[in-house]
Amino acid sequence: MAQPALIHKNGIPRREPKEGIADYSTQEIYAELLLRFHEDPNRDGLLKTPERVEKSMAFLTEGYHQDPTAILRGAMFDVEYDEMVIVKDIEMFSLCEHHMLPFFGRVHVAYIPNGKVIGLSKIPRLIEVFARRLQVQERMTQQIADAIQDAIEPQGVGVVIEARHLCMMMRGVEKQNSSTVTSAMRGAFSEQSTRSEFLSLVREPGRGAF
Ligand SMILES: [Zn+2]
Repeated sequence: MAQPALIHKNGIPRREPKEGIADYSTQEIYAELLLRFHEDPNRDGLLKTPERVEKSMAFLTEGYHQDPTAILRGAMFDVEYDEMVIVKDIEMFSLCEHHMLPFFGRVHVAYIPNGKVIGLSKIPRLIEVFARRLQVQERMTQQIADAIQDAIEPQGVGVVIEARHLCMMMRGVEKQNSSTVTSAMRGAFSEQSTRSEFLSLVREPGRGAF
């Protein structure tokens, strides 16, 4: 009897790779999926689709091979500045791990240095490392905050993400214009006054949600 794909370990269903499936290339597997979606993988427009999807998925998940700590370590500077540093409206594109559909929006990052700052261009890079993985918005928000906290040990870090999820929008689960807001506050940003200062700077008028 064939091995069932879904087995149970401690009551939690887990998938085991099916016997022999590892022998197929990624492109062969995508071609098989096209067939299962009632498409013809041999028609002109789809002939190179498995190759394109393989490449695009490799790019969209390259964050698994990148080390967020190394990126920040390479760009830390000693300073005596101890006011809030804010980088806001950073574009973010990721894939939700539940549906593998995009969610996208803006990230706002703030921290209060404690002797060290991060080169400003490294913050968007850091966000990319976490966004180019299968994600949930809540976890990504925390990962960004924790990576900054660990790298420069500031007095505090705040991260807010506003995003729209195509898995909700395309399936009609959510109103087209609603967005999901998540936040992670560490250190000084747990205090109401600091948190409020950050949030009011992020919400300054003159910009829409996206
Ligand atoms: Zn989803």
